Parts: sequence; C-alpha cells; structure tokens
Amino acid sequence: MNYLQTKGRIFDIQKYSIHDGAGIRTIVFLKGCVLRCKWCCNPESQVYDIQTMMVQGKPVITGRDVTVEEVMENVMKDEAYYRRSGGGLTLSGGESLCQPAFARDLLRAAKAEWITTAMESMGCAEYETIASILPYLDQYLMDIKHMNPEKHRRFTGKSNEGMLENARKIAASGLTELSIRVPVIPTFNDTVEEIREIALFADRLPGVKRIHLLPYHRLGQDKYEGLGRTYEMSDILPPTQAHMELLKREVEQQTDLECQLGG
Ligand code: SF4
Repeated sequence: MNYLQTKGRIFDIQKYSIHDGAGIRTIVFLKGCVLRCKWCCNPESQVYDIQTMMVQGKPVITGRDVTVEEVMENVMKDEAYYRRSGGGLTLSGGESLCQPAFARDLLRAAKAEWITTAMESMGCAEYETIASILPYLDQYLMDIKHMNPEKHRRFTGKSNEGMLENARKIAASGLTELSIRVPVIPTFNDTVEEIREIALFADRLPGVKRIHLLPYHRLGQDKYEGLGRTYEMSDILPPTQAHMELLKREVEQQTDLECQLGG
C-alpha cells in the first residue's frame, strides 16, 4: 500500500506553534497513550477510542480517522512559513508511538516534502518500533518524568525503566537530535534533588545538549469534567517562577546542558 494512504486517528491539529521544535510548526495530535499521568493536560488523548467530551455545555466529538495524505494536505498549506523559519511538522499526543505505522508514514511524508520533523514522546514502546521512525525524525523531544521507577509508576501508571533504556539507545543511535523535557509537577518531581537526578542522566546521554523544564499548569482541568472524570490534581498549585529559576540554576551548575524554562 502507498504509505500516503496509511490511516491513523488524531484529535487535533494546531498551527503556527513556535514551541515543540525549530521554527514555525504544525502540531498533529495523535490519539492513544499507554500512560495515565495524573497531571495530563490532554486527557482526551489517552483513550484510542473516539469520545464525546462536553465543552462549555456542548458535546464535542474528539478523535477522527484520517490518512497521511489528508493530514499532509493540511500541513503543507503553511509550507512558506516552514521554509522561512526552518519549521515543519511535529507529532504530539497522546503518545505517537501507539500508532507507529501512521507516525512513521507522516514523518516520512514530511521528509519527502523537505520540511523538518519533530516528535514529542516519552519513548514507551519497543525499541524496534522507535528505530523504525528515527530515519525520518530530525528532533526527538523526549519526556523524562522521574528517575525513580516506583514513583513513576504511582503517578503515571507505568515504571520508567524501559523508557530510560530507550533514551540511552536513541542517543547512542545518533540518528536524531535528542532533547529532554521534564514536566515539573509539584508533589511528584519538583525538588532540586529530583530535577538534578534527571538532568545528570540527560547529561550522560551522548549528543544531548538541551533540557526543557515545563512548569505544571491546570489548563486541562475542565476537560476532565467534560469527559466525566475526576481531576486528581485540583489541590496542586503550579510552581512559582522563583522555584523554576532555582531548578534551572541547579541544572546549569551540575551539568553542561543548556536549560530552558518552557517549551
Ligand atoms: S504521557 Fe503525555 S499524553 Fe500520555 S498520559 Fe502522560 S501527559 Fe498525557
């Protein structure tokens, strides 16, 4: 089958993003995730099934099936912006690796158009699956949430060991530019020691130059209600700017990484 006809399930496409990769980008959000992070700001991404979510009192269908070709027609409307800025296509979710053939073929189609590719992912898949995607991926924006397997499992539903091993293998492959992202979540991973431990791990990964610290926010809270779910983090306040600066200083003192606050 022609790879442009590969089908997948997405729940959103966002244009003109200047985060999540170089230049001006279009972000395609794939449906489905194997984790259940308590702070997830896209709870409608987690389940692969198409769902109905109440938004401002009205039912909205989240999720639709599309081909690579249909997505690329939309993405390439902004080709001029990508060319000027070095931007392109970013896959997000959800976890793109839950739909590996669709993710791979989207990235392949973008490379065929000579635009840059990026993927936000926490690397929760067999390494062979990830390896099939790497030849088409310029930037891997990899979430590392915690170094402690048990705490990781308690807050996300899965241990982190496979993901950390994948981070080592991706870095060792040299096939993509790997950057590490850390959602900074009070009560989970926001102490100086916890962030330092992640940064030291990232610093030892060959070729990794950048780490992003992403402060927790509550922008997804209403979506939980809309899906008939309880938001478990309602008592948690976002970290202060002063605390984020403190964490950034710690990373910069302890590692050679360039540390950025935000995406
Ligand atoms: S990995 Fe990302 S998309 Fe999946 S549950 Fe966690 S925050 Fe949500």
